[in-house]
Amino acid sequence: MPDKQFIATMKQVLLELECELTERLSHDIDAERPGIDSAVGRLSFIDAYQQHEMDLNTRRRSAAQLASVHGALARIEKGNYGICERCGQEIDPERLEYLPETPFCTDCNT
Ligand SMILES: [Zn+2]
Repeated sequence: MPDKQFIATMKQVLLELECELTERLSHDIDAERPGIDSAVGRLSFIDAYQQHEMDLNTRRRSAAQLASVHGALARIEKGNYGICERCGQEIDPERLEYLPETPFCTDCNT
């Protein structure tokens, strides 16, 4: 089992991550959708549109990451945080520091 102090630290990291992602997702980017009217010309409309698409992708990634963070916090509550969900081995703490929300060890993460 990973030690208690480590789990407590990771929980703190996960809670901060949850806060940050929730904040990021709380912005309604549809309200910022570029309109032809607001664009100076056709080129800047395309630029704005591409920017919007990029924002959407970032948002999708953030939403997926937030779901993983919630899963990790649930595993902390259940007492099996840091244990690979696929093979049941302990996940390398260095990997957890880098990717605190991961449910898989390096071998199982494909
Ligand atoms: Zn594994």
